[in-house]
Parts: sequence; C-alpha cells; structure tokens
Amino acid sequence: MQTAISHSIDLHCHSVYSDGSLTLDELLDHVAEHGVRTLAITDHDSVGIHHELAKRSLKETSAVKVIGGVEISCGFGNREVHIVGLNIDTAEAGLTQFLTAQQARRRERLLAYAHKLEQLKLSGVVEAVEQLTAEAVTRTHLSQILVQLGHVPDSQRAFKRYIGRKARAYIPMQWPSLDEVVGVIRGAGGVAVIAHPGRYQLSRKQLTELLDQFVQAGGQAIELSYPNYDQALNRWLAEQAAEKGLLASQGSDFHNPEWRWVKPGHFPKRPKNVEPVWQLWDENPTAD
Ligand code: AMP
Ligand code: MN
Ligand code: MN
Ligand code: MN
Repeated sequence: MQTAISHSIDLHCHSVYSDGSLTLDELLDHVAEHGVRTLAITDHDSVGIHHELAKRSLKETSAVKVIGGVEISCGFGNREVHIVGLNIDTAEAGLTQFLTAQQARRRERLLAYAHKLEQLKLSGVVEAVEQLTAEAVTRTHLSQILVQLGHVPDSQRAFKRYIGRKARAYIPMQWPSLDEVVGVIRGAGGVAVIAHPGRYQLSRKQLTELLDQFVQAGGQAIELSYPNYDQALNRWLAEQAAEKGLLASQGSDFHNPEWRWVKPGHFPKRPKNVEPVWQLWDENPTAD
C-alpha cells in the first residue's frame, strides 16, 4: 500500500448536490481542517454547488480557493468511465443543457431500480427515491436508502447483493459517449481528466484504447494520484501519460467524513515524470 501524504491541492470531491454528505460550508470547513487550500468540487453530473458559491458575496468566501468542476459518467464500449472536468465555466449553456438531461436520466434510472427492488419484495424504496433532494441522484443514495429501510446492514452489502454491476437488480445505463463528454467539458472551457483509472478493472489493452480515444477526443489529463491504486499499474499509466503528452491530476474523491478511509487532501505523491494539470490555469502554483 502506498503512503498517503497531505496535499494542499485536491481536485476531486463531492457534496450534497450529488452523493457527498456535506453542504458547501461544511465541505469548505472540513477540507480546510485537513490542510486543503485549493479544491475542485466535482459532483457527479452537477455543478449546482458552484451556482450556490457564485451567489455568495466576496466577504463570505472562505480561505479555500474553489475550482469549477464536475464528474461526468460516460460509456466506453460496454463499460462505464468517469471523466472529471476541471476549471470549467459552470454557467456555460451547452454544459447546463447536458447536465440537465443527465440528471433526468439519473432520476429515471433510480426509479427503475426502485421498482425492480420492490418486485424483489424490498418495500418502501420507490417512496424514498421520490423524496431524494440531490440534484444528481446516484446508486450511493439507493444503497443508503436500503440501509435506512433495514433491507441490508450496510451500503457495501447493498451493492454486493442488489445494485452493483454483478448483482441481481443491476440496471445498465446508456451513458453518453466519451467523445461527447470530453466535447461538453471542452465546450465549457474546461480540462477533461480521466478519473481514478485503476478502478475500472480494465486490462492494459483496454486502458491503452481508452487513453488513445480520450486524447483523440481532446482530453488532456489523467488522475495519477488518488487513494488506493495499484502501484505497478499506476507506474505504467504514468509512463503512458508522459508518452502521450497527458498531464497529471490528483484528488481524494472525498464523499463523506464517515468513510474514514478517505480524507480530503490525502493520497500518495504524484509521479514526477508527468507535469501537473494545474499549470494550465495557475501560473504560480503553491506547493501541492
Ligand atoms: P452511479 O453514478 O449512480 O452509478 O453511482 C456510482 C457511485 O456509487 C460511485 O460514484 C460511488 O460513489 C458509489 N459506488 C459504486 N460502486 C460502489 C461499491 N461497490 N461500493 C460502494 N459504493 C459504490
Ligand atoms: Mn460517488
Ligand atoms: Mn468516480
Ligand atoms: Mn468521484
């Protein structure tokens, strides 16, 4: 296992607008307590938190510098990958339209899950899903509902028994293509980043295809520092990134203080053979 060290730049995390547990103020306080000074808030298919932030007066803003961000789910063959958009214009019209459609798809899919689960005699799920208030609803919410209703002892078990990729109530999703997603991020003036590449269980051949297609589509960076990756695979990815001219991003993918194994700003060091992605928008970066 690699050692997590504390970083001041964290470019991947979630809030109550998707499947994180913290509101804007709680999130900014919490990451500051962990030494984070620059934070990209990257909710699944939502930039609502950035609209909330934009409404604040300057006096109210905290010591943490916030970067506009989002994490978009997309299709890759018959698999799913996550693309983070960094330094985006969160008010851009094409992005807004895209995310509105993505949020509607997510609601429909969660309701379909709820009906399927009720057919499996798990009661109360439809009603609970209808009451969700997050802008982008996810399977994390569904897993929490199953725990609250007493159908499973914990979220992990909800994924394993019912809603995970190999579980009995799994519903595959028709996500937009990688090309479309990278295009939307670039259209909003942002940098597209492949999120947590080690978590998709793709072979090196499939990862090579992903990297090539991503570069072709206009993608510019890849996360090479995040909690719990395979070291050998990551070294290989860093070499590939350097060869293909991709930049390196880093982030905790923080969701919830109760998930004790993930802390804001805590992940291993970035590989030294790849340039940091923030050089694209920050001319004088402080230590990372
Ligand atoms: P969705 O985008 O609706 O498919 O939900 C995906 C989210 O569910 C991810 O971002 C994770 O936060 C969470 N998730 C996915 N798989 C698991 C798992 N096996 N255990 C716990 N959480 C998971
Ligand atoms: Mn999530
Ligand atoms: Mn993700
Ligand atoms: Mn994430």
